[in-house]
Amino acid sequence: MFICDECRKLFEVCNVSYETHGLDTPPYEQILRCPYCLACNPSFAHRCSKCGEYTARIFDGYCGECKEQLKKEFRKTMEENFCIEDRRFLMYNALYDDDWAL
Ligand SMILES: [Zn+2]
Ligand SMILES: [Zn+2]
Repeated sequence: MFICDECRKLFEVCNVSYETHGLDTPPYEQILRCPYCLACNPSFAHRCSKCGEYTARIFDGYCGECKEQLKKEFRKTMEENFCIEDRRFLMYNALYDDDWAL
């Protein structure tokens, strides 16, 4: 499954065309496009394990929106359970890195 970065549509099969660069025989450069808007290089679509939406970018199984939501919830939990000094340390490690794990 692919997702178009331009129109956000999902599709299984890309529109494929070939750029010969003036060559008479293959290999030609294969160009993959969104079949709807013909934007180049659609992304592989990942499914968010929280909301089920498909997205081009996935963070530990979550889409960007769910990741932001989880960050907010995490921050709230931190504020309720840790003093400011501990929080600064933990949040620095957890929140300012996109590869953070829950
Ligand atoms: Zn498109
Ligand atoms: Zn999500």
